[in-house]
Amino acid sequence: KAFPSGKKDLKSTVKFADVAGLEQPKAEVMEFVDFLKTPEKYAKLGARVPKGGLFVGPPGTGKTLLAKAVAGEADCPFYSMSGSDFVEMYVGVGASRVRDLFKQARDSAPSIIFIDEIDAIGRKRGKGGFTGGNDERESTLTNQMLVEMDGFSSSTGVVVLAGTNRVDILDNALLRPGPDMAEREKIYMVHLKPLALEKPGTGFGVRVRKPLVRWFDAKDLKMEDVAKRMAALTPGFAGADIANVCNEAAIFAARRAATAVSMEDFERACERVIGGLPKNNSLMS
Ligand code: ATP
Repeated sequence: KAFPSGKKDLKSTVKFADVAGLEQPKAEVMEFVDFLKTPEKYAKLGARVPKGGLFVGPPGTGKTLLAKAVAGEADCPFYSMSGSDFVEMYVGVGASRVRDLFKQARDSAPSIIFIDEIDAIGRKRGKGGFTGGNDERESTLTNQMLVEMDGFSSSTGVVVLAGTNRVDILDNALLRPGPDMAEREKIYMVHLKPLALEKPGTGFGVRVRKPLVRWFDAKDLKMEDVAKRMAALTPGFAGADIANVCNEAAIFAARRAATAVSMEDFERACERVIGGLPKNNSLMS
């Protein structure tokens, strides 16, 4: 059920006329319909279309129906998954399902992905943000979704709609239109400038730590290289988070009495900033 269960999910016959009331939300999702009908128009103009929208409301109020209506009006494939389907899955399985779903949607773009009960997987990351013993699972899934959405541009032609009745527990990074990968890289360049980076040749090993699993072997710690790698590791980070990561990294280096900031300092700083992300209270900004 986590996947388009057969063809019926792919083709939506629902139209706006089938959705009673909800005039304001209908008006708001019209821009997605227009975008899905003619994504080239937007791409040519260099317009940055929102990657998605969040429907907030109690169960049974038409969130799924409205998402299907967007697909029906735009006459595009409708892929759906429910956050609660992931609750029983192993970490890696869930993340690869998310990856597959997004791939299918990209391959058949213009298309729509609808994630029902997104609160089940997109909870706030970091200390105290998670409930139960699902920290790793949720943070991996949240991260995977951010990574997927990070790769979207107006030429991708995929719109992600999600429904929840618990907006208060959602990860802010899923809600705000953060800078994309290339923009984050530029922001890193600004904030890396004042730092003394570890000199080429000092070397350090391979580190694998979840949820930010990665391999890094930098014999040569160039600023451009650090900016690129850090931008890739921090989907959903706003400018302020990036500035924090760079500063925290320098503080970590100072604390271990080093004369230069290492990649490991950046990794630790990254984890610390993720732990502190839910500070932002302006949820829908
Ligand atoms: P959940 O959070 O449980 O997924 P939901 O908000 O997505 O709920 P829907 O699945 O869209 O709710 O609504 C369930 C059914 O109720 C719809 O298939 C439809 O038949 C009916 N319904 C709900 N809202 C409307 C509406 N505004 N106009 C017409 N029918 C509606």
